[in-house]
Amino acid sequence: MAIMITDECINCGACEPECPNTAIYEGGVEWSWADGTNLKEVELDDGNVVDATEPQEPYSDEFYYIVTGKCTECTGFHEEPQCAAVCPVDCCVDDPDVRESEEELLAKKAWMHDE
Ligand code: SF4
Ligand code: SF4
Repeated sequence: MAIMITDECINCGACEPECPNTAIYEGGVEWSWADGTNLKEVELDDGNVVDATEPQEPYSDEFYYIVTGKCTECTGFHEEPQCAAVCPVDCCVDDPDVRESEEELLAKKAWMHDE
């Protein structure tokens, strides 16, 4: 599973610098595939290809958020999700809608950082 941030978030910002994939952003801030990765172009599920540096719409305007496509649960970097480890209100939780195996998470990490 990827990790998601719930609306319990108090916007303290502690999680953001801990993410090895730069998958965490402040509410209202645009994100990109290229931030913190080696990605140049990304093919989306609908087949469209986007420039990885292109700014994307925030997932949330109110709370810190995690870009699901960039979250690897810290696999390959750390033993446990670092955002969940530092969050003072325990609002970084498993996303029940996004289930990925260890192999898939390692492949995702390699895709983002080894290209
Ligand atoms: S679990 Fe790890 S990779 Fe995913 S958002 Fe949290 S710090 Fe980033
Ligand atoms: S550490 Fe927790 S409370 Fe703080 S910004 Fe991140 S998700 Fe929100």
